[in-house]
Amino acid sequence: MSSHCEKSLPDKLCLIPFMGFNIHPAGEWQLCCSARKKHLLNLEDQLSSIWEGNIINSVRETMLANKVHPDCVGCFQLEKAGAASRRIRFNKKRLKIYGKDKCYKSVYEKKKRLLELDISFSNLCNLDCVTCNSEYSSSWIKQDYKAVSEGMNFRNIRKDRSWKINKGFIDSLIENSIKDIKMIFIKGGEPLIEPNCLYFLKKLSEFQRDDLTVYVQTNGTAMDSKVISAIGDLNIEISFSADGLKSHYDWIRGFDFYKMLENFEQLNAIKNLKHSYFNYTVSAFNFHRVSDFIKFFMDKKKRFHKLRRLSFGIAHESHLNFRVFSQDTRKKYIRQIEETVKELNVKEDFLDGYTALLQELSLDKLSESSVQKFQKWLSFCNSMRKKNLQDIDLCFGQILKESL
Ligand code: SF4
Repeated sequence: MSSHCEKSLPDKLCLIPFMGFNIHPAGEWQLCCSARKKHLLNLEDQLSSIWEGNIINSVRETMLANKVHPDCVGCFQLEKAGAASRRIRFNKKRLKIYGKDKCYKSVYEKKKRLLELDISFSNLCNLDCVTCNSEYSSSWIKQDYKAVSEGMNFRNIRKDRSWKINKGFIDSLIENSIKDIKMIFIKGGEPLIEPNCLYFLKKLSEFQRDDLTVYVQTNGTAMDSKVISAIGDLNIEISFSADGLKSHYDWIRGFDFYKMLENFEQLNAIKNLKHSYFNYTVSAFNFHRVSDFIKFFMDKKKRFHKLRRLSFGIAHESHLNFRVFSQDTRKKYIRQIEETVKELNVKEDFLDGYTALLQELSLDKLSESSVQKFQKWLSFCNSMRKKNLQDIDLCFGQILKESL
């Protein structure tokens, strides 16, 4: 019998549509959060109608024919510009986690098994981080109207803001679709304040499956007995989103850095928590503080013994993108990051998204219209926080003066 490994994967293939998909907080599903198109999710349907349906099958066929599907153009544009796209990073990671044979099996086997699910239950959130919008946070709804009325209609905002996954959908998901799944990624909104997400976690916990890992991405503001009891005996890993330190974090997230850190420590004490992570969204507001962030957590590694990784994601929207600043300025910070990593002997697997970040930091500057969007956005956020970031972080003020 021939092994799947004897075939090779087409160059333009991405493993995502062969392993899972993403349920978005606005009642839609998509291949992944980098994909161009979203499709309406019908809560009456089972997940198999998506997983075995025509839309995802046509993506698979396109990839198997070694062509770029229109939903995936963003990844190939990044690759062309010399950066590592989500596709490249996902493929590399999954080949490492599952091994070549299992990955090839997922691609070439007729009856595909849903191995991973990336799910958001709603956009309910208690924070209004400056890199977010009402698609992902209900706290942005009011401010989004204000932003649009002030001419900032370049951001993604939701028209229908009342969607959420209901208990019927969760029960059907647990009964019918969960058996092959190895990893569930839970995002939001803020999942740990969403009652239906806590219901889902409790149900999963009753299921007692050792081969299932649940990852929760949280803003780390809600850590109470309800959350701890919902986590139960699950095989759980938690990623805290924090895009800065101290008052810089407070401006970006509108929350107290030290309170978030306290919650992180409390959660790390839970016995069944396997690993924890920090997730830093790199934007024009904080690209110059990446090396401080690495230093801070390298220093705390002994105390936070379950902390496995710092992950760097990139805010690509033009009003948030660090490429509004000159290439020379960004290169200066690339050198600073590289020196820190070398000096502290930071291992490659402690920094997820590191190579992609350095590659994107070195790309060309964006157009003048992007710079203008960023300036408008900065001034809107400064007035929302009632504090200027350039006063809180003098280094940011200097960059603003010198390199826009
Ligand atoms: S190629 Fe890119 S956009 Fe398409 S599914 Fe993969 S990661 Fe997502």
